[in-house]
Amino acid sequence: MNLPHIPPYKTKVVEPVYFRTKAERAAKIKEVNYNLFNLHSDWVIVDLMTDSGTGAMSEQQWAEIMLGDESYAGSESYFKLKRSVKDIMDFEYLAPTHQGRAAENILFSAVVKDGDVVPGNAHFDTTKGHIEFRKAEAIDCTIDAAFDTGTYHPFKGNINLDKLESVILKYGKDRIPFINITVTCNTVGGQPVSLANIKSTCQLAQKYGIPVYMDIARYAENAYFIKIREAAYKDWTIAEIVKEMFKEVAVVWMSSKKDGLVNIGGFIALNDAELYEKLGQFTIIYEGFLTYGGMSGRAMGALAVGLREGIEFDYLNDRVKQVQYLAEKLKTYNIPIQEPVGGHAIYIDAKKMLPHIPQTEYPAQLLGVEMYIEGGVRGVEIGTLLADRDPLTGKDRLPEMELLRLAIPRRVYSRNHMDYIAATLANVAARSKDIKAGFTIKKQAAILRHFTVELEKI
Ligand SMILES: *Cc1c(COP(=O)(O)O)cnc(C)c1O
Repeated sequence: MNLPHIPPYKTKVVEPVYFRTKAERAAKIKEVNYNLFNLHSDWVIVDLMTDSGTGAMSEQQWAEIMLGDESYAGSESYFKLKRSVKDIMDFEYLAPTHQGRAAENILFSAVVKDGDVVPGNAHFDTTKGHIEFRKAEAIDCTIDAAFDTGTYHPFKGNINLDKLESVILKYGKDRIPFINITVTCNTVGGQPVSLANIKSTCQLAQKYGIPVYMDIARYAENAYFIKIREAAYKDWTIAEIVKEMFKEVAVVWMSSKKDGLVNIGGFIALNDAELYEKLGQFTIIYEGFLTYGGMSGRAMGALAVGLREGIEFDYLNDRVKQVQYLAEKLKTYNIPIQEPVGGHAIYIDAKKMLPHIPQTEYPAQLLGVEMYIEGGVRGVEIGTLLADRDPLTGKDRLPEMELLRLAIPRRVYSRNHMDYIAATLANVAARSKDIKAGFTIKKQAAILRHFTVELEKI
């Protein structure tokens, strides 16, 4: 008999979960105006709102918390982190920051100016925000297949090189401070980028004398997909693939809350001494001294260990297989999901699941609320609420897709939880015809309304 797959870790510390009845949850979600962000976490049974900063740390990471050196300057924990980054990524200089968007703030303060353009695969929203904030433009050059959920492509995060070259020719080298590759590509559903595509992008960039930077929040999951799906690298270790991914890249920045396996943190890493010095001035005004940049010593120590654990094959294999297990289970219940599933999340197609609810009544939010009432499972709407209004007309922008995202925290939930999530959605699907109407908006903020919006049942 083949032994079943089990995770490469076991439980040492537990966190309580509180159970309430469906009726109690229905009353609570109404009380908080049907906004899932307004729930106190002890009212949630399985929390799939995000995989960012929600993972569980290992005993070695907790040991590093005790060893944290909180010296203002020259902390040993900083040097531990620097050694990890050098060993894994082969970058000499390290600027820690309190999280990913702080790295973007510092890096883009140094290199992005008014009128610039930054082409790349679909930019993450904070990346785009930090580019646009500087009156520059983020241009999406992701391959078309990324936006076709019906077709299979092993690397939907890839850059379309023709599109990229036409952007370079149109704007010229002087207006392009760098080309941005995000691995995995969060915005198109955590889809990976192939090594062949990374290499071709770097070659094209070199031809025009433009550097390539990488947004590496989920670089380890990307390396895992390269090993599994790109034949040329099937015998390479994850560590070797990671080095190959970064070989021709000038600068990387990371939200460590993802593949860093920590709850908070980020950094910029590079080999260019001159640029590092320039970044330092912004680190000092925005984050803190160069050897902590907004992180505590203990947090840097935990990250130094988390980076090493994050590229272990057995861990990555368990992580990605867990996401795929949930996808398969949902498919057996005929729950419509986006495919192929990426590394960290599953996206449910609310238009297909609640076809009788018009998009103007926020079907993905409705599905999220019903999933919460049914089983206390919390996801997040990626639909009309998130798309917000047209700044000119003030009317809702209706995006092509109405999705409910289920992001899976790292090393937190078991296979039982995956079965529980799938059963919850199956029950919602079974009574979907009785879900008669969605929501209208009672109150909304001027921008980023989804965080605080108040809704009312129609
Ligand atoms: C999360 C994320 C960021 C922003 O990082 P924070 O730590 O949330 O500030 C940037 N880029 C990508 C690809 C991300 O996933």
